[in-house]
Amino acid sequence: MYKIMTAGPTQVKENVRMARSLETTNPDLDLEFYEFYKETCDMMQEMLHSTGTAYILGGEGILGLEAACASLTEPGDRVLVLDNGIFGKGFADFVTMYGGEAVLFTSDYQCPIHTEDLKAFLEKDSDFKYATVVHCDTPSGVLNDISKICPLLAEYGILSVVDSVAGMFGEYVNVDESKIDILCGGSQKALSAPAGLTMLWVSNKALEAMENRKTPIEAFYANILNFRTYYEDKWFPYTMPVSDINGLRVALDNVRADTGILERHARIAEATRRAVQKAGLKLYLREGYSNTVTVIAVPEGVTDEQILSTMRDRYHVMISGCFDVLAGKVIRIGHMGENANVDDVALTLEAMDKTFADLGVQLLCSMKEAFLELM
Ligand SMILES: *Cc1c(COP(=O)(O)O)cnc(C)c1O
Repeated sequence: MYKIMTAGPTQVKENVRMARSLETTNPDLDLEFYEFYKETCDMMQEMLHSTGTAYILGGEGILGLEAACASLTEPGDRVLVLDNGIFGKGFADFVTMYGGEAVLFTSDYQCPIHTEDLKAFLEKDSDFKYATVVHCDTPSGVLNDISKICPLLAEYGILSVVDSVAGMFGEYVNVDESKIDILCGGSQKALSAPAGLTMLWVSNKALEAMENRKTPIEAFYANILNFRTYYEDKWFPYTMPVSDINGLRVALDNVRADTGILERHARIAEATRRAVQKAGLKLYLREGYSNTVTVIAVPEGVTDEQILSTMRDRYHVMISGCFDVLAGKVIRIGHMGENANVDDVALTLEAMDKTFADLGVQLLCSMKEAFLELM
């Protein structure tokens, strides 16, 4: 068994695993399941301060991103894609797949989006049905300030779709205050349930936009409107994965009971970044660090694969490499959700200390010790 300290999926607590092994029902026919599903959605709404509607869809986090684009995009719609990271840019694929015209607002991948630059752009062109933005773009670990970006978009009458799959529950999210129209989440990041579910928080404005479409939504599985009247009609568009949702509910209970969760993420992330830098390694970003993941540049003389495989095979700790434009360039420690605890991060940094020693990379100090001194 490996210690899973990747940038998601994260470790899953025992009570979540136990909930997933409870006896199951027929979720289409059991009226109690409709109550349970709705209560769970209501709880999600309350936790992230939303007065719209929340839904749980059976499918990994990517389904939520696709569902948002599929449900909003009509052929010819102009959509602003805020691109300062790999997931950010990726939204353009979903927009074009459903017939929209994706207009990229590209900015430096090593910093968050600067709201003033976005404002200057919107002054010249704001004819967009909606915009997409990633809260924490996990490959680089950049944290975009959705509390400023989404209200700015709203000023220009642009709906916002936010991917907070790797942000929510590790970083503060307030859906209503930030005027977010569709917030996308996943079960396997800071919420620390296994992969398999996507969660959506949808504003009334977004639902109206879907209902007022001139053309039908070109999807079934990714059609948010198919969930609109599940409760009144006692009818889900497809059979809900009961065990996944049982686990999700307990994971939500865990987060709700953990009142210090955001503060702990912040403290552990800060100490991790400082320890890594004190040892002489470089962070990938220049500013705008998310508290859910630390992204470290691969030092000269070694490859990401050497680091990852030594950590995994010799020290039984799994961390992440990267893909796309960051393939081979960075390694990533996921310290979100159940991973955000001092012991596991210390153990990970100890494994990294030993790995770099094994690979002949000289560090200026022990990252584990530097981290523990700061905790
Ligand atoms: C993890 C993640 C997703 C979900 O996609 P995966 O297939 O699990 O990679 C979507 N967006 C972001 C920002 C994520 O970190």
